[in-house]
Amino acid sequence: MIVGAGGGGYPGAFRLSEAGMEVLMVDPKGELGGNCLYSGCIPSKTIRELAQLHWRNRRLLDSRDPPDFNKIQERKDSVQLTRFVQHRKELTVHKGVSFVKGEVKFINNHRAIVQGEEVEFKYAVVATGSTPSRPHFPGAELCLTSDDLYSYRTSFRKLPQEMVIVGGGYVALETATFFNALGSKVHILVRSDRALRSIDPDLGGLLLKLLDPNIDVRYNSPILEVSKVGEKYEVLFSSSGNKDKLTADVVVVATGRTPVVPEGLEKVIEITQRGFIKVTDSMRTSSSNIFATGDVNGLAPYFHTAVGMSVAAANNIMSGNIDSDRVDVRGIPVTVFTIPPASYVGLTRSQLRTMNIPFIETSFQLGDDSMAQMYDERGGEIRLFFERSSLRFLGAWVVGIHSGFLINELTQAVVNGLTARQMSNVAEQHPTTNEAIAYAVRKLI
Ligand code: ADP
Repeated sequence: MIVGAGGGGYPGAFRLSEAGMEVLMVDPKGELGGNCLYSGCIPSKTIRELAQLHWRNRRLLDSRDPPDFNKIQERKDSVQLTRFVQHRKELTVHKGVSFVKGEVKFINNHRAIVQGEEVEFKYAVVATGSTPSRPHFPGAELCLTSDDLYSYRTSFRKLPQEMVIVGGGYVALETATFFNALGSKVHILVRSDRALRSIDPDLGGLLLKLLDPNIDVRYNSPILEVSKVGEKYEVLFSSSGNKDKLTADVVVVATGRTPVVPEGLEKVIEITQRGFIKVTDSMRTSSSNIFATGDVNGLAPYFHTAVGMSVAAANNIMSGNIDSDRVDVRGIPVTVFTIPPASYVGLTRSQLRTMNIPFIETSFQLGDDSMAQMYDERGGEIRLFFERSSLRFLGAWVVGIHSGFLINELTQAVVNGLTARQMSNVAEQHPTTNEAIAYAVRKLI
């Protein structure tokens, strides 16, 4: 039984059915793709791309047309629908998978309730993902979450003139840059003195410096209260000990995500203090026939890692009680899809210092890259980190245009343990941003 049909669910389901197993997959959405497709990566990045298009038109071609936000949302919905349909086709190919719309409740480690009926399973993969968390403050229920902004066929179709975003993580910053690019006035209220706390502070600092100064970022500004005044919302927050106020058309809370553990499962398997399902690197929970993959296990909350975990769980089910596949969450590329974006992979400066690994770094400023010049988006850099003695590639960051593409090539190099010399042998195609990799490496060779 596969619980949840997102990235942590369906790839494993397909693999198990290809191996001849009988698979029941359950999800209340009645579609494959999980939150990533329904309200996460796909819809938010569609809006990102369209917002960037609008912003580029304005900057480079002097377009003065206001954005048609409803049209942008329609386009987003149509991309989502295209992918739902694509997944439905995949289901028809995998005849061994029965897909049921519903929510799974666990009775014990071999029995569950699905659509009001009791089902028995030999193995289960729990891939129930996560949901936006909502902090507690008066008026929190008046605020939107990323689900409201990006869900399939959302009713959020009017571009806000003024927006307050609560939070300092990647969702807060991404959303801020999308709506800023579309012309909204955006304020971000960060509780502490730093945003993007989960990434290398030097990389975070570089990205924050590149963001449009029109975005009003306020640090040490915990939210106190939100209230509705007429058609608008009044946001009361603390600011260096004093109280301050902002007025906006919408208030968005982007303060992290909470794992979703199916009902009854907490009695069956071990859950960590932070609410994640505890797993080994083979994705096995404390009950050896139950696996947990994707966001719900808290190891690395990305679609691309959920897929790897899902396949690993399937492989381990196929090999019975022997763990034949393990997941290594290092060497996973991560991108903050702000406009401009930032990406990293492997070990970067702060981790290398903490781990006392002797390293050497080389960089290239994207201002000298031809494609960055074509778009006149010349801020940012690529920075590569190598082990000092062997010049083996350990990690990288890219801040600026096309970082999400560049990081894929760099991931290949990190995962396969290439050296600077091997990397310098590649003729990076002209004129693409990948040339920056060659320019940086060749400073060492
Ligand atoms: P991941 O990428 O970690 O697999 P997603 O968040 O993309 O996760 O998808 C998780 C899916 O699990 C969502 O589509 C959600 O509807 C589904 N889900 C959540 N709780 C249950 C449950 N109790 N039974 C079945 N499916 C569930």
